[in-house]
Amino acid sequence: MRIVVAIAISLCMLASSAQSQTSKDQGAIQIMRSGSQPSRQAPAENFTGSVRVDPLFQVNAPSRASGSLVTFEPGARTAWHAHPLGQILIVTAGVGRVQRWGDPVEEIRQGDVVWIPPGQKHWHGAAPSSSMAHIAILEQLDGKVVDWMEKVSDAQYSAPVHADDSNANAGAKPRPSQGAIGDFAPKLAELTDDVLYGDIWERPQLSKRDRSLVTVAALIALNRPEQLRSHLIMARKNGVTQQELVETITHLAFYCGWPNAVNAIGVAKEVFGEK
Ligand code: MN
Repeated sequence: MRIVVAIAISLCMLASSAQSQTSKDQGAIQIMRSGSQPSRQAPAENFTGSVRVDPLFQVNAPSRASGSLVTFEPGARTAWHAHPLGQILIVTAGVGRVQRWGDPVEEIRQGDVVWIPPGQKHWHGAAPSSSMAHIAILEQLDGKVVDWMEKVSDAQYSAPVHADDSNANAGAKPRPSQGAIGDFAPKLAELTDDVLYGDIWERPQLSKRDRSLVTVAALIALNRPEQLRSHLIMARKNGVTQQELVETITHLAFYCGWPNAVNAIGVAKEVFGEK
């Protein structure tokens, strides 16, 4: 990072000394063309697992911000660290984890925007069975953007994830099927909540994303638009993108019939229109 800063400073000095000849270039818009900035593997001393960094933009004084796209394979994460001026993470794909020291682990998903305040010890990375990519934007203070600390141990990484609002009061409030069918068919509600969602969906042999894709495919093939609706919403939460679901339905038109695919597209259009 010091080298980058040194280069940035020397480039600024060069630019200002040559200002008389090249003043018209000073304010020119720069386009960093896609593919022009080589990817690199994140250094093993500060990361666990396979992590790729694609630089997006470097510090360009007087701005202090820089940004990169960071892609974590399942299980991969940063070490504990802090940023002198904080950090913004924009999750662009998959499902991941973030935790501040002393707080529970939080799940983050595509589309989430995370603000890490200055000086807070934290880590971020992928979920155990799903990759995660985020754009990281931070500002440097006195040439520094990060203070690295110890690695995140496997025990710390596998601590229970803090449930989001939809599950926050799972013990107190009726569970989903209890609410929908519990009064009428308590045993079916119990099997749905405890066996299907409590056990099968939680088994680590398949990621939630893959389970969602398989389930959605089965519901499309069976032409079950009522169940498809809630499973499309769940698939999106589990990291399947709109583009991937539309592609799945298009693909399935050839295996389960045109009418099923058209019905499914109708449901998908409603679900994604709701956002
Ligand atoms: Mn960070």
